[in-house]
Amino acid sequence: MRWALVGASTIAAEHVLGALRGAGQDVAVVQSNTASRAAEFARTHGIAAFGTDLDAILSEAEIGAVYISSTNEKHHAQALAAIAAGKHVLCEKPLAMSVAEANQMVAAAKAKGVTFATNHHLRCSGSHRAVRDLVASGRIGRVLSLRLFHAVHLPGHLQGWRIDNPAAGGGVIPDITVHDADVARFLTGEDPVSVVAEMTSSGMGQGVEDSVMSVWTLPSGAMVMAHESFTHPFAGSGLEVHGTEGSIFASGVMTQQPVGEVTLVTASGRESVPYPTHNLYGQAVADFLAAVEGHGRPAADGRDGIASLAVALAVRKAAATGTRQMVDYGGGA
Ligand code: NDP
Repeated sequence: MRWALVGASTIAAEHVLGALRGAGQDVAVVQSNTASRAAEFARTHGIAAFGTDLDAILSEAEIGAVYISSTNEKHHAQALAAIAAGKHVLCEKPLAMSVAEANQMVAAAKAKGVTFATNHHLRCSGSHRAVRDLVASGRIGRVLSLRLFHAVHLPGHLQGWRIDNPAAGGGVIPDITVHDADVARFLTGEDPVSVVAEMTSSGMGQGVEDSVMSVWTLPSGAMVMAHESFTHPFAGSGLEVHGTEGSIFASGVMTQQPVGEVTLVTASGRESVPYPTHNLYGQAVADFLAAVEGHGRPAADGRDGIASLAVALAVRKAAATGTRQMVDYGGGA
């Protein structure tokens, strides 16, 4: 299929462009709001065409799909335009700035009959899928709690709009909490019902939060504890799932690489859990392409993107108000 990149972004350059090409896709054009950046991105990455006019690019019938990786406030309008033009859409998280916008995007894709996916890469990793399989097969019994450790240090080259521009969707909550919400939903199969939270700026955020801790309640009564930050150089990442019959410890797995260790602890002892180490973004692209062909669903679809955004925005509101918030999925999740 022939693709357009919407946004001359770091994530496209570092991960998704390679994943698309690795799957045999033709990345034909890159769109950016700045002509010089579009030209530079196209030249650097060997893309034949570039431009600033999204509608002109979308009017090209040969383009079958778009990958949207602009700053967060642009996703909504760009996705609606691509859907209206009949393109399949792989959209970065968070889908939009509000749950209402995200619902609108997903409803539009459904009405148009195009495939719509959210690029939540973590559920594409072999480690997360192994943990999900252990939980789903009952190896740890009834799930009691989930702890998500995702306090990292934002690399210098990403310390732009994320740390100082609320209008572009900056802040650690839309950036990382949204991923953790998807992880919790993926591992448990449950949509969080309510949240409490505290957030702060601990040295990096200017006008947006750079650290947040929150607790979520699932419909089953299981609890989720989540910690996300941009300012922790040495904390490491990971997750734990605790059940009545066992616990799963996955260290170093909240990352873009297929790395980390997964350990299952039960009454029988400790065992290391093997998992496939495929490229996370390659898996996301493979699942997306299969869905376009009518086989299965994307790794994370539109509903998943709505739900992860709804949880993240509830966390921010809970922290801002100091009150417990019910998660409002806007009728779409
Ligand atoms: P970047 O900051 O690299 O790029 C985002 C946009 O910012 C670009 O599309 C471009 O806008 C503009 N931009 C890029 N470079 C410059 C520059 N030097 N000066 C001014 N503007 C510039 O963002 P990321 O790649 O980090 O993130 C893009 C999206 O992808 C976000 O929605 C983010 O949440 C998501 N993301 C997802 C990840 C995942 O694993 N799923 C990982 C990282 C990010 P334009 O081309 O329109 O002018």
